[in-house]
Amino acid sequence: MHRSHRLARLAPLLGKCIALMLHSRAARTAPRERLHEPTAGSAAALQRRGQQSASMRARASSLEAAAPAAEAIAPMKQRLVSIGLSFLLQRSPGQEFIAGFRPSTKGDALCNCLFVAGPCWERARLRPAARRSVLPVAPIRSLAMTVPTRPRPASERRQLPTLRARPLPSEGSQAFEGETLVIGLFSADLTRGAAAGSASSASGGTGATIYELSERANRLLGPDLARIVKKLVEDAEPRLKSGSSVTTHLLVLGDSNTSSVRVRRVAVYCLGKEDDFNTDILNKFGAFVSTQLKSDSSQPDRLGVVIASPLGKASLAPEVLTQRLAEAVLLAAFTDDRFRSSEEEDGATKGAATKPSGAFIDLLGADETAVKRGEAMASGVILTREIVNAPPNVATPEFFAETARSLAESSRGSITCTILEKEDCERLGMGAFLGVAQGSELPPKFIHMKYTSPVVTPGKTQKRVCLVGKGITHDTGGYNLKTAGSMIELMKFDCGGAAACFGTMKAIMALEPPNLELSVITACCENMISGKAYHPGDILTASNGKTIEVLNTDAEGRLTLADALLYAQQNIPNLDALVDIATLTGACIVALGTEYSGMWTAHDDIAARLDSAAKLVGERVWRMPLAPEYREGLKGKISDLKNITGGRWGGAIIAALFLQEFVKKEVPWAHLDIAGTVWNEKQSMATGVPTRTLVEFVEGIARG
Ligand SMILES: [Zn+2]
Repeated sequence: MHRSHRLARLAPLLGKCIALMLHSRAARTAPRERLHEPTAGSAAALQRRGQQSASMRARASSLEAAAPAAEAIAPMKQRLVSIGLSFLLQRSPGQEFIAGFRPSTKGDALCNCLFVAGPCWERARLRPAARRSVLPVAPIRSLAMTVPTRPRPASERRQLPTLRARPLPSEGSQAFEGETLVIGLFSADLTRGAAAGSASSASGGTGATIYELSERANRLLGPDLARIVKKLVEDAEPRLKSGSSVTTHLLVLGDSNTSSVRVRRVAVYCLGKEDDFNTDILNKFGAFVSTQLKSDSSQPDRLGVVIASPLGKASLAPEVLTQRLAEAVLLAAFTDDRFRSSEEEDGATKGAATKPSGAFIDLLGADETAVKRGEAMASGVILTREIVNAPPNVATPEFFAETARSLAESSRGSITCTILEKEDCERLGMGAFLGVAQGSELPPKFIHMKYTSPVVTPGKTQKRVCLVGKGITHDTGGYNLKTAGSMIELMKFDCGGAAACFGTMKAIMALEPPNLELSVITACCENMISGKAYHPGDILTASNGKTIEVLNTDAEGRLTLADALLYAQQNIPNLDALVDIATLTGACIVALGTEYSGMWTAHDDIAARLDSAAKLVGERVWRMPLAPEYREGLKGKISDLKNITGGRWGGAIIAALFLQEFVKKEVPWAHLDIAGTVWNEKQSMATGVPTRTLVEFVEGIARG
């Protein structure tokens, strides 16, 4: 919409410019030809050049003929895209031109230009065409390839299974009927019977051990299931340690008219000791469940899941257990196939039968509300993962703005969205953020989403929470360029903080907690290299007037966060919590590895809340010091602050101290460094951390 509008404005210039351009091109390129041809003076060369000029003239007139009429541009653009040619419109102010071109098949980074037109045609740097049958165009930065990469439409992707809460077969009037039943057992539910050596084990080759099910498991599973489980573990002679499993196929289930369970496979998974049970084990169990689904090729698939004991002593309440299980199953079932052209080429799942959509997982004996909560949480984590996974040529600042807008649209009024353009940020004096953004061709976007609870409980006040996410959509390091081994190819994950904020927003939108006003703020841009990029040594001025000497352009996240934190404090009064989330420092990975996110805060209450939220969902944070001893190092010599100290040590702490300079003392602020936890290297996938922590944290604050 935007583009065709610009095209319409361009249209009157086209014809004029093409003629001008072609004329001027011939004039400019002649001397260059001479340079490239040592035999320029020879008769043969002269003759050849004569032929070239003739062919260029011919080419010129054909190009002129190819130039589109104004009203033809939009359909032509569509046509070009549909036949695999890209169509480029450069939109920088004063630099408009359009070009239709096709990538060279020779891998020489040249494009076969079909036409170029516009007032800044000279930017296209056309080269002599004679040596080629088509006109090559050197791709300068502003002529980046524009064959867009788009995710496969959702309808063509593998679908997540549908979760349902269903009654236990022993309780409900309905039998469970499906392909597979997965049963989670605690060690205590499976004891060795006293009657070792008894002949009651029909299959007992060793005849030594009989397993007994605990009373509660017997009661919960009902006679049919209990019989299955007992037989299964006897036959398999299991070594049922925590995390191990036994599976049987084609179980005989007795009279199909009376049996409460009709399945073809039963899998028993040992959850270990009840006292040791935690979200980690539950996550592994969820992964096991989703593997059972994937390895099953029949369809339509129905899989039942039951945990044989309600948790008595364990730390998780039954509804929390159900929610966590639902999350774990869905998150384990999630694979990101958006950027594969087809299912068949999916190397990751080759061999294993891929599950078509329409699979159901029935959580037996589960509470429906808890399942719904689990789904809401998983949808948030999946959004986080998808944003981080998306390559930097897709997840651009504009992509973030679009995602924010569509979240607001789908919220039925609970979420509003404000996007500040570059000019708005200039007016607000966000020199630190804009300094980082200025090297990129892509315009920065400063995004503010706000969720407001539709419901406020009488007598309660609306709690105000703001999450600020670092949204560097790609980080080259700037002129302090990231070199080999610095994970430059993975720097799409440098927007992990912003992505987690977006995921949190999505989950909160579905959960609709009362008494909450949640803001998500992200200053989105790329950190690139170009003639416009900021220099090492530049002094930037943040929106509060503080000046910062940029001693390292790769310490850019803190610069963007400074302006974002200031904006949050200026625009959201009386904050109950302000948390920034950022893939901020490699030093944090060195300090805490890939399992623990670093946490810095001067507010013990916030620290405790974040810590318990993380524990509850099976993510990990570790509190680090806001060491005042190191603050001196950030003082500038010729500016208020430096963005690094220049020393090697304690980099993650220094970064946190830098951010603290932009937060008022009384604001309950915390900083999370997720550089180590954002990415799962083994799976080549974003973890979605710390979305679940944030959702629990935010809900906890709203509860009071
Ligand atoms: Zn950086």
